[in-house]
Order: sequence, then structure tokens, then C-alpha cells
Amino acid sequence: MKVEPFSLSLSEPLATAAGDIGSREGFLVTLQDDEVRGVGEATPLAGWTESFEECERALRAVANGDRDRAELDPTETPAAAHAVELAHADLAARERAVPLAEWLAEGYRTSVPVNATIGDAEVEAAAEAARNAVEDGFETVKVKVGVRSVEADLERVRAVREAVGDIDLRVDANGAWSRPEATRAIEGLTDLSVSYVEQPLAADDLTGHAALRDRGVGIALDESLPERGVDSILETDAADGLVLKPMALGGVHRAREIALRARDRGVDPVVTTTIDGAVARTAALHLAASLGIERACGLATADRLAADLAVDPAPVKDGRMSLPDAPGIGVDIGIR
Ligand SMILES: [Mg+2]
Repeated sequence: MKVEPFSLSLSEPLATAAGDIGSREGFLVTLQDDEVRGVGEATPLAGWTESFEECERALRAVANGDRDRAELDPTETPAAAHAVELAHADLAARERAVPLAEWLAEGYRTSVPVNATIGDAEVEAAAEAARNAVEDGFETVKVKVGVRSVEADLERVRAVREAVGDIDLRVDANGAWSRPEATRAIEGLTDLSVSYVEQPLAADDLTGHAALRDRGVGIALDESLPERGVDSILETDAADGLVLKPMALGGVHRAREIALRARDRGVDPVVTTTIDGAVARTAALHLAASLGIERACGLATADRLAADLAVDPAPVKDGRMSLPDAPGIGVDIGIR
């Protein structure tokens, strides 16, 4: 197993729990078996996964043979576990000459709807971005909220709704609201026919989220999932939907298991990236395809990168991403 660090510049700084970052740093993991090569990607993200250093330590320990890959803890070092598992899965799928989605599940879809994301911006800029997204063929738009006051955000979402008409609209508060703020926001969002709000409250407040359900807007949990685990979320009836980030959950297999368990309990999954490189992003697309997800997923994140690991094998077209026509993940990183 080979471990190579990489750094990908972002087209715009990304706001994280640990401040703004200008690039995504990670590791490409490759496995070679005769003529066939499997690739995996670990791109840790502060607040979501282990640190870059912890990730590197875990990967090097596996590469040196000091640690068995089965010993990688998907909750302690999710990004490292994601990369190693993915490299093995890619290799196995390539050896069988099937797409990763087929290797994950017998029935799979060949394309997945994706959403456009509108970051924090003034009212007019937000409306303009939404108009552009719809012109590009997106049928679902997600608006980031929580940086401004609830009232200012409602004004932005109203402008977006008026600009784009009857499309699927969702918002993401990234845990920014207090319970009273969330209650106020949800009243306003109901009037604007917003389908769901992602993570209105802090990640650990599951009872607070449970109390926000059935008020006209769905509750989807994102940050809560790696923080509290799927069992606690299902036990407390805290969510209508779950947002799955394979990089933060320790790999595509584990994310798939979580999705299936949630679905069994009537909780709807979507798959998103952590603004990853082409390998992890396309693997997340395979995961969504293997789950047959019909709700728009947050996979249209390639344009957040100014540089990438490979030519994008699954560019967004008319609001959808299609699986590459190649075995495994289908990303050609060339000879490195
Ligand atoms: Mg989110």
C-alpha cells in the first residue's frame, strides 16, 4: 500500500469549525495487484474527522505493516479508514470489471440528482445564484443559513423562493441556532415551502431536534451523525432525514449500512462530500447510486476545488451526476 500526500487549492476559502481554510490536504492511497490498481482517498476535515497528522500516522502504520487495516477505527480515524477501505473496494471492483456501485449492491442507479449550494450571501446575490443554478438544470437548491439573524436569513430564503419558483428548496444551518431561534426559523420556512432544514441545532442536541419535527419542515441531521451515531438518532426520533458523509463516517460501506438502517426506520438518507478530491467524491456518487437515492445529494462539489486529483469523471449535467463508464470508482489518476 502506497500513501502519498496531496494538497488541492480551493476556489474560495471554506468555513470550518476551526476557521477558514484555503486548501484541502489529504492522502492518496494506492494498492497494486499485478496489472490492477485500487485507489482510495483520505481528506480529513477539522471538526468532522481526525486531524491531518493523526490520519497520516494511521495510514503509515497500515502501509508499514505495523497495524492491520481491520484495526483502523472508523470513529477514531474515519478519513484513514475511508481511504484504505476504498482502495481495497476499488481494486476488487476493478478486478471483477464492475463499477463500485455494483460491487456495493446488486441493484443500483446509473445517475443521481444533485443539489446546488448557495453560501452565505446578500439577498440579491443569493437570488441571482439560485437563478443561475436553475438555468444550469438544478432542480434542488440548498441555502446556507445561520451566519445572519433568523429574520435576515428568512428574507434571503424568500428571495430565493421568489427567484426560482416551484423547485425543491432546503436550508442548512450547520448547528448555528438556539432552540428559540430554530422555532422561529421553522415557522418562517414552512411558509416558504422549504422541504427540510439541515442541522438547525447543535450536534449533540438530539431531544431539541426531535421537538422540532412535525412542524411543516423536515429535520435532517448531518453534524449529529458522526457526533452521536445513528443509534442515538433513531432511538430519540430526532430526524426525518440523514446526511451521510462517507469521509466522516469511516468509509462507503459503513455509510451504506447507516443509510440502510435509517431507511428501515423511515428516515431518508442523502449522501454528500466533505469537499473531497475526485476519488472520494466519485466514490460517494457510487454510494448514492448503490442506494438508489432519488433525493438530490450534495455531491456537486467539484467546482469548490481549484485543482483536483484527476479529470472529473462525473461532471454535473442538468442537475444530475452519472457514474463513469469504467470499472471500480472510475477515476483515472494516471501513473504516479
Ligand atoms: Mg450540512
